[in-house]
Amino acid sequence: MQMNSKDNNYNKMIDKFVTGKILVTRSSMPSYEEYCEEIRDIWDTRWLTNMGPKHKKLQEDLKNYLGVEKIDLLTNGHMALELTMQALGLTGEVITTPFTFASTTHAIVRNGLTPVFCDIDPDNFTIDTTKLEALITDKTSAIVPVHVYGNICNIEEIQRIADKHGLKVIYDAAHTFGETYKGRGIGSFGDVSCFSFHATKVFNTVEGGAVCFKDQAFGDKIYDLKNFGIHGPEIVESVGANAKMNEFCAAMGICNLRHVDEEIAKRKAVTERYHERLDGIEGVKLNRVSDDVKPNYAYLPAVFDEKVFGCGRDEVYSVLAEHNIFARKYFYPLTNTFECFAGKYDPNETPVALAVNKAVLTLPLYADLELEQVDRICDIIISCKK
Ligand SMILES: *Cc1c(COP(=O)(O)O)cnc(C)c1O
Repeated sequence: MQMNSKDNNYNKMIDKFVTGKILVTRSSMPSYEEYCEEIRDIWDTRWLTNMGPKHKKLQEDLKNYLGVEKIDLLTNGHMALELTMQALGLTGEVITTPFTFASTTHAIVRNGLTPVFCDIDPDNFTIDTTKLEALITDKTSAIVPVHVYGNICNIEEIQRIADKHGLKVIYDAAHTFGETYKGRGIGSFGDVSCFSFHATKVFNTVEGGAVCFKDQAFGDKIYDLKNFGIHGPEIVESVGANAKMNEFCAAMGICNLRHVDEEIAKRKAVTERYHERLDGIEGVKLNRVSDDVKPNYAYLPAVFDEKVFGCGRDEVYSVLAEHNIFARKYFYPLTNTFECFAGKYDPNETPVALAVNKAVLTLPLYADLELEQVDRICDIIISCKK
């Protein structure tokens, strides 16, 4: 009896959150059989976590897929950022942008560092390198740019500025799984690039993340930080946290990696349909990726110019929601306007980011989104035009 009523509640919950709705994203998964086959030997080995065979295999596979020199896997993308900043021994101020997920700014603040917010480029939403150098002080220790929506930052200029001032560069590469810039794996730029393998990302390990780097001394520090600084059964050399990826997550990654190219190809078809339908519509601007980038079609942000389109972002969002289509105001709000930072930062110092975050809507995009559904979404958007 009890089991039944629980099942009922569960089914109600599924109905409430999933059935009949189009959400902004839908997690990629292998078939149930493929995942079961992958985890079968865990029942023999009883090796559930602590850098087991699945972890080792996924690490090697990802190193090759991403085209990076060195990589370590972590429990999530946030810990990749947070522990990277700790391992690099950053001090004082870190220059970043407010047009990002909470994680980027929180990683800086949780390291006891002061975020200094640089504005973004209005065309690709990444850090505006023409405004970067003016923000450098004698306290600055690093730049943390974000490859927003899979758009690549101005890598050459950031490196030039960093080299000139002796700063570290840590890329938040959470949106750029599998991308290349001028043929080079995106994770190979900067001192460190941090990836997220969260359920909502192009490639997922349920929860997971990675750091890509070149310097083995840094790699050793990350390893210590992710595993309590333990060097042997009786040797603890440093004060570390726990941020290890477990074997079940690694197994999910091994399976998902087999299909990620197909998934990206499907995302491409969805993205192209959106462009076909919306590119000619005045007042709507869809994201365009630079020709130097092999894209992963992770997100499809649309910027609504209310004066031209006659209808603002918030209204388009609400109209879509009335039709059970849930786009996301991503990124909104800006991290420098979060309640937890009340009074600390002035969002007027990043006016482009402030304007974009009020006008951008990230449209539903995932591999299995049917083109008919894309048409329906576009019809509704077009119907909002006044
Ligand atoms: C997802 C994401 C993160 C955090 O990754 P988690 O794996 O969720 O911890 C950091 N930065 C950006 C830009 C992200 O989109």
